[in-house]
Amino acid sequence: HICLYDLLARTAREYPEQLAVIDGEKNVTYAELQRIVDRFAAVLYRLGLRKGDRIAVMLPNCLEYIVSYYAIQRLGGILVQVNPMYQQSELAYLLEDSEATAFIGHREQKQKLALIGWDAKLTLIFVEGASHEGEYGYYEEIAAVSSKPPSVEIDPREDIAVLQYTGGTTGRSKGVMLTHYNLVSNVLQSFAYSDGVFERPGEHILSVSPFFHVYGMTGAMNIAVYGAATIICLRRFDANHALEVIRKYRSTFFPGVPTMYIALLHHPDAETIGLDSFKVCNSGSAPMPVEVMREFERKTGARIIEGYGLSEAAPITHRNPIHGKRKPGSIGLPLPNTDCKVVDLETGTVELPPGEPGALIIKGPQVMKGYWKNQEETAAVLRDGWLYTGDIATMDEEGYFYIVGRKKEMIIASGYNIFPIEVEEVIYQHPAVAEACVFGIPDPYRGETVMAVIVPKNGMPVTEKEIIDWCSARLAKYKVPRSVEFRDRMPKTAVGKILRRSLVEEVVAKQK
Ligand code: ATP
Repeated sequence: HICLYDLLARTAREYPEQLAVIDGEKNVTYAELQRIVDRFAAVLYRLGLRKGDRIAVMLPNCLEYIVSYYAIQRLGGILVQVNPMYQQSELAYLLEDSEATAFIGHREQKQKLALIGWDAKLTLIFVEGASHEGEYGYYEEIAAVSSKPPSVEIDPREDIAVLQYTGGTTGRSKGVMLTHYNLVSNVLQSFAYSDGVFERPGEHILSVSPFFHVYGMTGAMNIAVYGAATIICLRRFDANHALEVIRKYRSTFFPGVPTMYIALLHHPDAETIGLDSFKVCNSGSAPMPVEVMREFERKTGARIIEGYGLSEAAPITHRNPIHGKRKPGSIGLPLPNTDCKVVDLETGTVELPPGEPGALIIKGPQVMKGYWKNQEETAAVLRDGWLYTGDIATMDEEGYFYIVGRKKEMIIASGYNIFPIEVEEVIYQHPAVAEACVFGIPDPYRGETVMAVIVPKNGMPVTEKEIIDWCSARLAKYKVPRSVEFRDRMPKTAVGKILRRSLVEEVVAKQK
């Protein structure tokens, strides 16, 4: 029966003087954070916002985001997550779909709002320093409010806390309804499986995975708040800056994604980085190539723990143990209180034995209530209380799970099923490869044919033939890419996932 706001209230009560957030020049303790959150909740109430109202938050990782998040939870509002890099058409879609009545952002978003004609509704813009009407200077205005926050009854199981729009890696973004119960459960499940990390307050979390995405929201913010850790906010990932911050604050915990580890690995200081302050480097959101994990650990001395999750599960469902047996290439074991099965792809009902790939399905307190205003899609993925993840996985004899690929990304060439991850793993072993992405493109004879796009390591020469030969020596013929393209960088989502879909679109457009 705990609500999200209770996570903050508990930590503020038990560790009031503990540093909660470092955001550039701004520092606040947990006692201060709670005070500001309460005041901002009072501001929102005074401005007419009520329980159940959708409030869009379009902010990078910063103190204002954290304050807005917990204030909205205190008010019983529904926070609509918006990526601050979205342009007006994407923003317009989210505001319309969620029927948001209020918007919170930084000043640079004002123009986008004007362009989509948002005039009629409530807008709160945070600015640094002096403020104008409708604009809120963080300290000046909020800290000056003296009214009491509203007292609102929240039903953690029923009430939606966050509308988490899916990343859209595979299609149109859908609003995932996450309740207080879903989000709080995922924090508690992660703690129950944290092998003593967070036992004491004061961990230093490098919070660069965006809070507007489910991985950063739970893994780099809510977990930190519950664990009385210090959240070090970074607005975007840049390897130089990240390293500076790691050294300055002696970060101990890093919820990262594979592309961040790849960027750190290829930093000129990789061998001497000295990431010895880290107790845990988590990797999630996308597959971590085994070769990258090995090289990163060898060069930096840090240890990567891979986990798995999805927006629809608030998000974490699996992780390798921190101190126990870790298996590279595996997403690890299900979190406590999480049921998990691999079932046949056709009917989705027959459980498969260890080693056989099938649909990964999950049951647990973290599984979403459904998709916002979308019963059809909800019914397709929530069946008899099981969440159909859309991922294909295997389980080994010891109960460790492995992601084979996404159902939607499976390539079918001459009737053979090919999973991009398997081919990518092989390409990553090539010494000249920094990043790789494999996908299918339409082919008149085979249906689809395999193609690879590669970012070579700095200054290392490599040819299409070399890659094809490399793969031919290690993979069945039908899995070997027929063509290889080289580029300087990959298109990525805001979280840093390689955007396979846009690579496919580009290649197909070029062919026409
Ligand atoms: P959309 O669902 O709209 O296509 P998305 O992929 O960005 O967008 P998320 O909920 O952010 O949606 O990501 C969840 C997906 O990320 C999982 O279903 C899975 O395919 C992938 N994923 C997460 N962690 C891992 C991992 N450790 N290994 C392989 N894949 C992973």
